[in-house]
Amino acid sequence: MKTAIFGGTFDPVHCAHLTVAREAALGFGIDKVLFVVAANPPHKPNATHAPFEDRYRMVELACEGEPLFAPSRLEEGAERSYSIHTIERVRAGLGSDDALLFIIGADAFAEIESWRRWRDVMQAVEFIVVTRPGHVYRTPVGARVHRLDTLALPVSSTDLRRRLGAGEQPAELPSPVYRYILDKHLYGA
Ligand code: ATP
Repeated sequence: MKTAIFGGTFDPVHCAHLTVAREAALGFGIDKVLFVVAANPPHKPNATHAPFEDRYRMVELACEGEPLFAPSRLEEGAERSYSIHTIERVRAGLGSDDALLFIIGADAFAEIESWRRWRDVMQAVEFIVVTRPGHVYRTPVGARVHRLDTLALPVSSTDLRRRLGAGEQPAELPSPVYRYILDKHLYGA
């Protein structure tokens, strides 16, 4: 059994997140992708835009009908969301023969050496690093990295928030997520 962690603020979740997870799962024979929604991400000091519960609900909506995807509440709560804690908790629930992978975009992986206990993170998981336009990365010595270079998706939550605030209906949002955003008046939509 192969499980993958895919962490993010998902503020909001968008089609590139889904494509990345789908391609990684197909390409590397992953049985389950956990979409772990960060409550208090250390690398986004200005915090998040939508509350945790709304971001989680949008991930739930986006994962509906996707048999390999599962939303996860492992990082909910007031504590800072450190990936090493999430990895240790997921690992504790797996069998000794089970593989644990970590799906990550090139932008986030480029900062890996600033993560809390990053050497432990390197030891604990194999990475699937996904190309992202405008971002390069180097692989730290000892890291186990599979490159997923077939994607180049120019989509970001930052850009979607801006466009939502300007009254657009971005095609890069899954329809149920867009409806939820309108319903809750998130991001100035
Ligand atoms: P923001 O614009 O708010 O920083 P984001 O679009 O980068 O958000 P996150 O929730 O921070 O979305 O991303 C979660 C994970 O998905 C990260 O590992 C990120 O690198 C990856 N990711 C997001 N968008 C893409 C993309 N277009 N291509 C490849 N990876 C992506």
